[in-house]
This record gives sequence, C-alpha cells and structure tokens, in this order.
Amino acid sequence: MQKIVDVKAHVQSKIRLTVSGCWEWTGSVFDSGYGALSLCVNGRSKTFRIHRLVYEIFVGPIPTGLTLDHLCKNKICVNPEHLEPVTAKENILRGSSFAAVNARKSYCKNGHKFTFENTQREKSGGRRCRICNLQYQKIKAKQYRLEKKLGASEK
Ligand SMILES: [Zn+2]
Ligand SMILES: [Zn+2]
Repeated sequence: MQKIVDVKAHVQSKIRLTVSGCWEWTGSVFDSGYGALSLCVNGRSKTFRIHRLVYEIFVGPIPTGLTLDHLCKNKICVNPEHLEPVTAKENILRGSSFAAVNARKSYCKNGHKFTFENTQREKSGGRRCRICNLQYQKIKAKQYRLEKKLGASEK
C-alpha cells in the first residue's frame, strides 16, 4: 500500500507546469477529460480523480456535496489555486450549457433587469419578469373590464 507521502511525490513527478500557471496532469485521463490516478487503498485498487486528490493533499478535504470547479477551464489542471469548491449547481451555471446561458441572462425580453425582487421562478425552472407579468395582468384586467362594459351596453 502506498502512503500519502509517496502519493504526493508521485503526483508531483507527473505534473507539468505551464506558462498559464496550470499544473497539467501527464498521467492517465478519464473519458470525461479529467486526470485519473489508481492507488491501492486498503488492499484494493481505487481510481481517483486527480484534481480532487491533489486538492485534498495540498489544501484539505473537500466539503461533502461540493465539486471542484476549474477556474482555468483546463480539465487536466490540478493546481489547487485554479480549483474552487462549489455546489454542483454553481458549476453547471458557470458552464456553457443552455441552462447556464439562460440563467445568466440578466434582462427580460423587454429589457427589465432580472433583480432578485423582479424575478419570479417558474415551476419549469425558468424565470419570469415581475414587471412584465404585472403589466400583462393589468392589460388582461383592463380588457376584461372593457369586454364587460361592452357586453353590458349591448343589452
Ligand atoms: Zn489551471
Ligand atoms: Zn420585463
């Protein structure tokens, strides 16, 4: 079984420093693009995501439920200074998925800012502009009154 001290030395021997400050992992890589390292733990072979392992060696334990976000967007980078523990949701929001791009939009289609007060959450996860929604309801109410009035005068 390898001791943690050996792991640190082993990891350091497999890191390539780049001009951007990234510590690029030169060992094996998962299909997901993240670096991988197999270690013998309690007599069993276990494969670790190297950026998480390095972070735990150099910084400390990652709080449960948190994932490490690569601030440098370089998946094989293991520089703890380029890694920040975030919730999985935050990590998705920082990405470039449709949900992330949509969530980052800060204005509604009519140009009202999505502030905390002006944002209504929809069940679908989307956002609705409170100003637009109020205006829409006012128009609907006006229409309703108008229709009622017209209906009454027809009689
Ligand atoms: Zn980096
Ligand atoms: Zn609006």
